[in-house]
Amino acid sequence: MLQKIILCVCLGLSNIALAKSLALSFDDGLDPLIHSQAKQINNDILITLNKYKIDAIVYPSLSKIGGKEGLEIIAEWGKQGHRIGNHGNLHLNLHKNEVNLADYLKDMQQGHQAFSSLHGFVARYRFPFLKEGNTLEKRDSVRKWLKTHNYQSGAVSIDASDWYYNQLFLKFQQEKDQASLDKLKQAYIFHLLDRAQYYDGLALQTLGRSPKHILLLHVRAINAAWLENIIDGFKKQGWKFIDSHTAYQDPIYKIQPQTLPAGESIIWNIAQIYGVEKLRYPAEEAAYEYPLLQKFGLHVMP
Ligand SMILES: [Zn+2]
Repeated sequence: MLQKIILCVCLGLSNIALAKSLALSFDDGLDPLIHSQAKQINNDILITLNKYKIDAIVYPSLSKIGGKEGLEIIAEWGKQGHRIGNHGNLHLNLHKNEVNLADYLKDMQQGHQAFSSLHGFVARYRFPFLKEGNTLEKRDSVRKWLKTHNYQSGAVSIDASDWYYNQLFLKFQQEKDQASLDKLKQAYIFHLLDRAQYYDGLALQTLGRSPKHILLLHVRAINAAWLENIIDGFKKQGWKFIDSHTAYQDPIYKIQPQTLPAGESIIWNIAQIYGVEKLRYPAEEAAYEYPLLQKFGLHVMP
């Protein structure tokens, strides 16, 4: 009996010592004039974060939240002790040839003007689609803008496809298909944990340590509905939640990889620099999820 107790204590201690840590980040936001549930979704996420005492960061994009009403919803994050970054105005993809540098820099500035007066604002920029430039000029000029404006990159270490699972969530919800929603919930939690483990594994393989992670999620219905399950799922696997400010102290977020096209998760970049073979590009997209969804009994195809 005593031996069992000692073993349990030791395992517990080693779990604490080796706990992997992550912070939560939520992108985009919703426009209440387009999405009737926008405020509810935002509130539900904030309620869960408050319940678990997790301080997160939100990266709103002006075009996603609309006008004044959307901004008021986002302001709630700052009022409740979370941080607010900048995700630009029009949610531009810097890799697109038609997105020119001057317009992109203007777009970043417009985001700054909209969000910098909000309580909780921090000068961090999250690249839409995690695309940091398809040319040397774009990549380096945007990095220069960040430096001149005392900005840091709002980098991500764990990328996932919550936006795709959200599409399925909305579809099944509309069809009142509870059986599929139940399966989707299992698949979704599995997917997030799997991605976290994957990127952490890449970090261990290259850096030899588990960094302080930042998980990319979105302000969307699926996360409003299942955030508690997500948090519980991570905790069960030994993950510890930290706030975004603490996470961003990890030196990996200071790295500016000399890769082109630039972007994706910072750990994906590190892996590329270290010559890890068979990295997916793009690192995450809907098509990768079809086999997993099928495994969970959901037969969705494009
Ligand atoms: Zn976005």
